[in-house]
Amino acid sequence: MTGAPHVISSVVDKILVVLGEPFASWSAFVASLKRIPFPIVSLQSQTGWLYLLSSLVVSYVVYRSLKQHGEIPEDQSFTKTAFPKDVYLHRSARVDYRFVLFDKVFRYFLYVPIFTAATWIVYSRTIRALGVGSFHLPDAVAVWALPTFGLLMSDLSMYCAHRLMHEVQFLWAFHEVHHSAEVLTPVTGYRVHPVEELITTAIQSVFIALSAVLVSATTTVDVTRTSIFGIHAITFAFYLFAFQLRHSHIWLSYGTFWSRIFISPAQHQIHHSAARKHWNRNYGFVFAVWDQIFDSIYVPKEREHITFGSGNDHEYLTARQLYFKPFLYSAQELRRSLATVTKRLRPHTAVSRGLAQQPPSTPRQPQATREQAPAQTTART
Ligand SMILES: [Zn+2]
Ligand SMILES: [Zn+2]
Repeated sequence: MTGAPHVISSVVDKILVVLGEPFASWSAFVASLKRIPFPIVSLQSQTGWLYLLSSLVVSYVVYRSLKQHGEIPEDQSFTKTAFPKDVYLHRSARVDYRFVLFDKVFRYFLYVPIFTAATWIVYSRTIRALGVGSFHLPDAVAVWALPTFGLLMSDLSMYCAHRLMHEVQFLWAFHEVHHSAEVLTPVTGYRVHPVEELITTAIQSVFIALSAVLVSATTTVDVTRTSIFGIHAITFAFYLFAFQLRHSHIWLSYGTFWSRIFISPAQHQIHHSAARKHWNRNYGFVFAVWDQIFDSIYVPKEREHITFGSGNDHEYLTARQLYFKPFLYSAQELRRSLATVTKRLRPHTAVSRGLAQQPPSTPRQPQATREQAPAQTTART
């Protein structure tokens, strides 16, 4: 077999090998279970214990400040301020716990192999064309510049994927799972539909593979030696600086200058806001520069009181609804888009078949939800 069919066949073979690896034998299965990164133990995970601890410390500083300025009652305890029952035992938070418990295992067997396979394929094919060490970079430059370039590329890929999820209507159906949370806790960070995870991972793997190609093509030194606990020093510092507060009720802004460079917890809370002026702002993960460049930034000038939710929160009250409803809504969106395209291409035929009498967009669509659902903030508590 030669040419394109051969390439496709070998790519499929590679994917099958990587996907099937954990199931090749019982010992391989047990070994792969052990490799599941426990989100609290691993400091590569955004919910690593050190980052949770640092967020707790910052929460305490915020608590002292609120007390000093008389914004909370004098006798209100720290526990009650940081872990209010109406947030952590809210029905939305309880759905998060159930969803994430199942999803953590599911995602390991599905996303990790696909991510590995896709990255490997893009990397190996590109580096074969270029050749290892084909352009030499001085070691000192390579050690610092290449990992930073990799981090920027990975962050840019997340920005692109996130924006796509908001702007393509049938993809919004999947991303709305994350936005339908009525309260935010650190667990909400994992309230992500598998389809969204797959799409984000696929886009990210291409960017990461091309960054890895750049490393192999320009240096032979170990560029990972500048990382801390397996992640880039900037990411480590970013996680350490109260990263977990982005999915919480605690407001923490980095100020108007730093908020244009890094996404603060307050800026991500604004991204979750139900208020119209906040819609489709602050897509960034680590860096705010992408939002700055592509004109989607919102920097709060003062503390804002935010109601979280997408406007369709009442449709996502169980873990099962979180998994299955997006497929239904996405299919509806696709059908509607198809009908619109058909109508544009063949307007007379479309009218005669009744497609012109399609009902107006339901509030499921991001555009409709974003532009037509008027009083969505008032419906929530
Ligand atoms: Zn979003
Ligand atoms: Zn979020």
